[in-house]
Amino acid sequence: MSTVISVKNLVKRYGKLSAVDGISFEVQKGEVFGLLGENGAGKTTTLEIIEGLRQLTKGTVKVLGHDVATEMSSVKSKIGVQLQSSAYYSYLTLKEILELFGSFYPKSLEAGKLLKSVNLEDKASSFVGALSGGQRQRFSIVASLVNDPQIVFLDEPTTGLDPLARRNLWELITQIKSQGKTIMLTTHYMEEAELLCDRVAIMDKGKIVALDKTHKLVERASKPFKISFISPKAEGIAPKLRKIGTLTELGGKSDHFELTLSTQANLHRALDLIRPLNPDSLTVSRASLEDVFIEKTGRNITEEG
Ligand code: ATP
Repeated sequence: MSTVISVKNLVKRYGKLSAVDGISFEVQKGEVFGLLGENGAGKTTTLEIIEGLRQLTKGTVKVLGHDVATEMSSVKSKIGVQLQSSAYYSYLTLKEILELFGSFYPKSLEAGKLLKSVNLEDKASSFVGALSGGQRQRFSIVASLVNDPQIVFLDEPTTGLDPLARRNLWELITQIKSQGKTIMLTTHYMEEAELLCDRVAIMDKGKIVALDKTHKLVERASKPFKISFISPKAEGIAPKLRKIGTLTELGGKSDHFELTLSTQANLHRALDLIRPLNPDSLTVSRASLEDVFIEKTGRNITEEG
C-alpha cells in the first residue's frame, strides 16, 4: 500500500471559527476513505482543501506526493472532483459536457463509453435539467472520471436520493474502486459509510474523534451488543435492565426500547429478563457505525446542531 493523500496538522479558520482544527490522516492507494460527521463538522472544507479548491490556514496537505499549496498544477490531471449538479452548463447536452471537460485534459475517456457505464447512454442528448435526482448524481460522478483520475473525490454523493437510487450509486462507487482508483468521500449516512468505506474518520467540530478500519471501529464499540424490543410491560423490568446496560425508550413508536450492553453475559441476562414479557417484537444485533458515532460525538447524526 502506498500513501496517496497525506494531511498533517491541517487547520482552516474562517475568521474566529476553526472549521478544521488540527487534523492529520493518510489515505492509501486503492481504498475508499470516508469522512463522516454532522452538518458543519468540517468535512467539505477538508475535502476542498485537498482538492486544491480552498486555501489552508496551517498544516501540510500532499496529494500523490505534491504539496497542494504550491504544486497543485502537478495534481489536477490526476484527480477527479464531483461537482454539485447545479454547477453544470444548462445549455450543453450530457455528451457535450463530458467532451468539453475532456478537452481540458491531455488524456480523456470517450463520452459515449462513460455514459454507458452509468446507464445514461440514452440521455446523451439530454440536458442536466431533464434528469432525475439519481441520474444527475450518476452523471456528476461519471463527469469526475473523464480524465481517468487516480483519486476520485465525492462530496455527499447520495444525499437526497431514494433508497434504490442510493443503492445504484453504491454499486457505481464499488465499480470505480474495482478499477484500482482511490476514493475519498464525505457522507452523513452511517450505513453508506459502513458498506462502502475501508476506513472512516469521524469528524466533530473540526477535529477527528475516531479513525480506523470501519469494522474495527464497530468492533471496539464500548457496548457492542444491542437488543430492540416492543413491550408495554417494560417499565416493570427497567430498573434491572438499567443495572446491566443502557436502556433507551426510542420514542415515535410506542413501547419501543433499545438496550445496549457491553458483554455476552449481560446480553443473556437481559434476554432472560425480557423474554417472560412476551414482547411484540424482539431483535438482537451488533452495534453499528451509528452507535459508534453517537458514542464518539454524544449525538445522533440526525439531530442537527
Ligand atoms: P455539511 O455536512 O453541512 O456539508 P461539513 O461537515 O461539510 O457540513 P463545512 O462545510 O466544512 O462542514 O463547514 C464547517 C464550518 O465552517 C461550518 O460551521 C460552516 O458554517 C463554516 N464555513 C464553511 N465555509 C465557510 C466560508 N466560506 N466562510 C465562513 N464559514 C464557513
